[in-house]
Amino acid sequence: MSEDDKCHFCGNPGTKLCDHPMKEADGFYHLETAHTCDLPICDDCSTELGVTFDMHGPGSVDTTDHCPFHSDTKKPALVVVK
Ligand SMILES: [Zn+2]
Ligand SMILES: [Zn+2]
Repeated sequence: MSEDDKCHFCGNPGTKLCDHPMKEADGFYHLETAHTCDLPICDDCSTELGVTFDMHGPGSVDTTDHCPFHSDTKKPALVVVK
């Protein structure tokens, strides 16, 4: 993380990036591009929504942290328009 990665929401040093998967403009998720929200967030502003099993690694596990925009998974995902 660089010093520019301040939390998008409160300005504290960002420690995480939002892991929320983003739909592409066609409305589908693309595993090849695998866009995530990637907003820098701090511990206080992140919501841990569980763990992700990385099928490409030897059973590696990562936590899934979401920014306040995406801490409620019932809301529709933002659409990325390229
Ligand atoms: Zn914050
Ligand atoms: Zn997000």
